[in-house]
Amino acid sequence: MTAMTSPSAQTPPVAASSLHTPVIGWFEQHARDLPWRRPEAGAWGVMVSEFMLQQTPVNRVLPVYEQWLARWPRPADLAAEAPGEAVRAWGRLGYPRRALRLHGAAQAITERHGGDVPSEHAQLLALPGIGEYTAAAVASFAYGQRHAVLDTNVRRVFARAATGVQYPPNATTAAERKLARALLPEEDERAAKWAAATMELGALVCTARNENCDRCPIAARCSWRLAGKPAHEGPPRKGQTYAGTDRQVRGRLLAVLRDAVAPVPQAALDAVWEEPVQRARALDGLVADGLVEPLADGRYRLPMT
Ligand code: SF4
Repeated sequence: MTAMTSPSAQTPPVAASSLHTPVIGWFEQHARDLPWRRPEAGAWGVMVSEFMLQQTPVNRVLPVYEQWLARWPRPADLAAEAPGEAVRAWGRLGYPRRALRLHGAAQAITERHGGDVPSEHAQLLALPGIGEYTAAAVASFAYGQRHAVLDTNVRRVFARAATGVQYPPNATTAAERKLARALLPEEDERAAKWAAATMELGALVCTARNENCDRCPIAARCSWRLAGKPAHEGPPRKGQTYAGTDRQVRGRLLAVLRDAVAPVPQAALDAVWEEPVQRARALDGLVADGLVEPLADGRYRLPMT
């Protein structure tokens, strides 16, 4: 039996309320001043940031976020452009299907909600490309509602502080969701702050590689620390290899199209990767994902419709 299936995964061994005040107090003192946390970001700024931050670190997101919001300050501004422009502006953030999904969400917001990002969780969840995490994050961060917002940083903090293990499972479990709900403060505004604060704690103090318990506001209550930091017993953690993968080839192919002002010939794409089978597979994948549009004359471009 792994540590994650222990009863402690079901019931928080620490009193939830004993964590709230120190974590929120720490956040109020140490939170980074990020543009999507400022009031002027609005719900659209929060939504854009959540799409970008899901698989990309803050420092890489910042310049792209600023340019994005300057160019498309409202969902309708983005919706009026071709999806390929979203892919182009996504630049090197990686996982570019997120750009298409954000464009699709902007179109739906414009058509269904008069251009305003909806505030109800169910309406957010009904938008294309928006999953449970993003709906909860936007409802919480933009509208101050009470939702369990479980990103990788929060899951790691809860695994350590409440469950007493070093790492959460590879994929989010029902037990983690239950624990997150059990740990939520009752009051809306405090719950929203708790969500942001636990995320920041995981990003700055209780990181995947290095937990800075000396700087942690809940060190005295952290189950994993108090248990002597037992070694990880669960399945091996997923690696983040990139070199040589289809993802790398896709990135190179897409970079050619992003930088081009006109459709590009096949030869320009062939030049970026030597191995033809992998190159063809990557290009086929980009076309299948709607990120690249093949033209009848054999050239390629970013999607226009
Ligand atoms: S005490 Fe250490 S391990 Fe526990 S939550 Fe804080 S930083 Fe993480």
